[in-house]
Amino acid sequence: MTSITAKKHKVFTQSWGGGDYSQCSVDSCPYLATGTIDSHLIEIDKIPEYPDTLLLGHEQVCNYHCTFCSSRPGYSTEPQEIQNAGYENIYEKLKPVLPHIKRISANGNGELFASPHILKMLAEWKPLAPVEECSASLETNGSLFDAEHWAKISNLGQYNLRVAITVTSFDDYTYKLLSGTTLPVQQVIDNLHFVKSLKEQGIVNHLQIATVVQERNFFQMPEFTRRCIEEFGADSVRLRPYQIHGSEDSARIWFTEMRNPNHPYHEEYLKVMQDPIFKHPKVSDWGLNTESHTPDLLTFLMQRDKKKVVKFALKELAKWPFRKSKRLLGKLIGR
Ligand code: SF4
Repeated sequence: MTSITAKKHKVFTQSWGGGDYSQCSVDSCPYLATGTIDSHLIEIDKIPEYPDTLLLGHEQVCNYHCTFCSSRPGYSTEPQEIQNAGYENIYEKLKPVLPHIKRISANGNGELFASPHILKMLAEWKPLAPVEECSASLETNGSLFDAEHWAKISNLGQYNLRVAITVTSFDDYTYKLLSGTTLPVQQVIDNLHFVKSLKEQGIVNHLQIATVVQERNFFQMPEFTRRCIEEFGADSVRLRPYQIHGSEDSARIWFTEMRNPNHPYHEEYLKVMQDPIFKHPKVSDWGLNTESHTPDLLTFLMQRDKKKVVKFALKELAKWPFRKSKRLLGKLIGR
């Protein structure tokens, strides 16, 4: 488990979070977004010989290209053989630790079922602790969560198993666009029914369906949330706001965040958020009702791409006399 005392945590936040979390990003921290940060402070007296929790998020592989992804831009560009050698090295180092682990989780930095090295460790995990004391937590985009892939790590079903599946939309066009995939959304829907069947058998103990709410899908959210709860039997629906990162294109980044009062869809967004489904106890809101601090478009573009904006403005300015004379000439010859 992450070993940090309240005292150390205080020192840490003094230097990094401003001492009162005022310099932390609420959008990046569900504990701040839900006002539960203080309940996550941990105090321990002695550093144990082995950790009892292991988070596996090191394998940089994904079968999607989500438009809002914060992981992919940081992926290594080393040749695959070198990356694989690194994964093998991690595996060898962690092998003696694995039996001492009581809580294991994966992924969050790529797609779990497309990550063979992480799957191998999960499949080989045989904790020394009694089954009732062990738990596993999986995060996936759901596209490969079918019977065949589940069979590779079905050993996890004996422990307390939590599954989080992120889906951008149940509408095929929106799903493909935001996930950067050609897979039909029906494949994810079928897989969600499969996971629901695992839950009904008591194999999956908690199912969370998550999404990133943004300009392209916000108006679908009431229907999306209802389907998660009623059709797929989700225990919780995590609605996370879009965070500014991932895309290279500043104008696109600005337009994706409609919590911004300057956004042309902001009023529409506020109306959608009035839907009573968002008050459902299974809905976990990670900050959809907080306004973003994104400035107006021009200021935003100037902050991020000053050179590009100035270059564009100069180019337009240079064209202006030509356009004006063209208009004048059109008027003179009656066109
Ligand atoms: S599924 Fe996750 S890791 Fe993969 S591209 Fe999308 S956001 Fe990134």
